[in-house]
Amino acid sequence: MSKPYKVKEIFYTLQGEGFHTGRPAVFCRFSKCNLWNGREEDREDAICDFCDTDINGTDGLNGGVYKTATELAVKISELWPNELGNRFVVCTGGEPALQVNEVFVEELKSLGFEVAIETNGTLPLPDNIDWVCCSPKGKSNIVIKNCDELKVVFPQEDAMPDTFNFIEASFYYLTPKSPVKTNNGQSFEASNLAQGTINYCLENPKWRLNLQTHKIINIA
Ligand code: SF4
Repeated sequence: MSKPYKVKEIFYTLQGEGFHTGRPAVFCRFSKCNLWNGREEDREDAICDFCDTDINGTDGLNGGVYKTATELAVKISELWPNELGNRFVVCTGGEPALQVNEVFVEELKSLGFEVAIETNGTLPLPDNIDWVCCSPKGKSNIVIKNCDELKVVFPQEDAMPDTFNFIEASFYYLTPKSPVKTNNGQSFEASNLAQGTINYCLENPKWRLNLQTHKIINIA
């Protein structure tokens, strides 16, 4: 059954990280997450306390409430630059699994899209998604046991990479935690964190270093 979808923004860009780094993609950012309400004053008590994304509302580029799966899929399709193949859409958030359903994925596929999702792994996913990137957070209840790529922010005090050994993936990535200012004024030094991540990968070669290249080259 189709339903309204609350979308923060939709834009065409290059995938900046993980297995598909450099690949043109339409990003559809769904509003809201189940691990943080998006309010700075509640960050400290959130299950996920290092989010660097504006996850609430529908006020971004091409954001809005899309009444049906068809309406949203057509909007995404309009952002693809031509009719040629290799169409790729990344459903992200917030937590996209709060809204992405089988009907919506099917609509995208009927328009020729390969469909990827970036999820925190706490909610079940529709079976028809083509590429699952799971980025689990400490203290959360993970229900996903298999995915295409597992992407872990490093370090997380209560969720070092081994915590997620129960998740089977084709590729394992560690992302150095971005410098972020929290409510209590805490901040993190990017270069030190990257060195820690490099060292961890060298010592545990199942893991690969994941850099957020979109931030390095300054694209959306
Ligand atoms: S799980 Fe992802 S979207 Fe949700 S608060 Fe954490 S980083 Fe942000």
